[in-house]
Amino acid sequence: MQSHRRARLLKALDLEVWTQRAAPRSIAAEASPAEADSAPPWEVGEPAAPSLPTPPRVVVPRPTPRPAAAPAPLNLLPEPEPAAPPYVAPADWAGLAEAVSTCSRCKLCKTRTRTVFGVGPKNAPLLVIGEGPGADEDQQGEPFVGKAGKLLDEMLRSIGRTRGSNAYIANVVKCRPPGNRDPESDEVAACRPYLDRQIELIQPKLILALGRIAAQRLLGSDAPLSKLRGPLHAYGAARTPVLISYHPAYLLRSPSEKAKSWADLKRVHRLLVEAGAAVSA
Ligand code: SF4
Repeated sequence: MQSHRRARLLKALDLEVWTQRAAPRSIAAEASPAEADSAPPWEVGEPAAPSLPTPPRVVVPRPTPRPAAAPAPLNLLPEPEPAAPPYVAPADWAGLAEAVSTCSRCKLCKTRTRTVFGVGPKNAPLLVIGEGPGADEDQQGEPFVGKAGKLLDEMLRSIGRTRGSNAYIANVVKCRPPGNRDPESDEVAACRPYLDRQIELIQPKLILALGRIAAQRLLGSDAPLSKLRGPLHAYGAARTPVLISYHPAYLLRSPSEKAKSWADLKRVHRLLVEAGAAVSA
């Protein structure tokens, strides 16, 4: 039956006319050629994770290294001057005497008239040491002159000693302190190398220090004379025996002390005899 007759017959019977729809288009047919060529979705296990777009590479500029900061200036103290080497006195008598005669190691050089080096034989067993030159010594250049010097000569003679034969006489400082004041510690320190060299050269059996100042400066003590007088001390590396007694100038002012001084002199004599430096007192 022709289709239009059949349509009219069905319409007359109030029946719906069915017509064949166009065949459905396959997914593949609807896919783009490129998609059709790709693998079917059921053959893919897990869906591929969407690939994240590669982030643009960010080039972070390296920080330009800053030049090393200069170290902060330290508040440095000025470098101390290197300590001056200790003074070494000439090792022989002639050099030592010359060094003293032209010495300017302390301020006493400005007020002296003459240096007072010392007097006596250079191998004397007895070395007598006073504190410093007085006015007479400053004029004559010899220690223990004047009234005090005369008294010392008598005292020494009483035990068989003289400055011309067997006793050497010197002072702690070789120049007169102005006004007969006590020598100051810096003056004593400056002059000490000369006295030490004299002791080394003489090598006395005994040192007799006269007066408080000579005793204190020689022994490096602040003790009064009453404490220093009596014990037998020792001086220097050679441990030379040292006795302390009164200064002749003090004995001239205090004659009552001469008995004690005489006792000290007799002890000096005994010690020298024991040391092999006997003389007929
Ligand atoms: S007292 Fe001694 S150190 Fe001072 S100037 Fe005289 S010799 Fe030199």
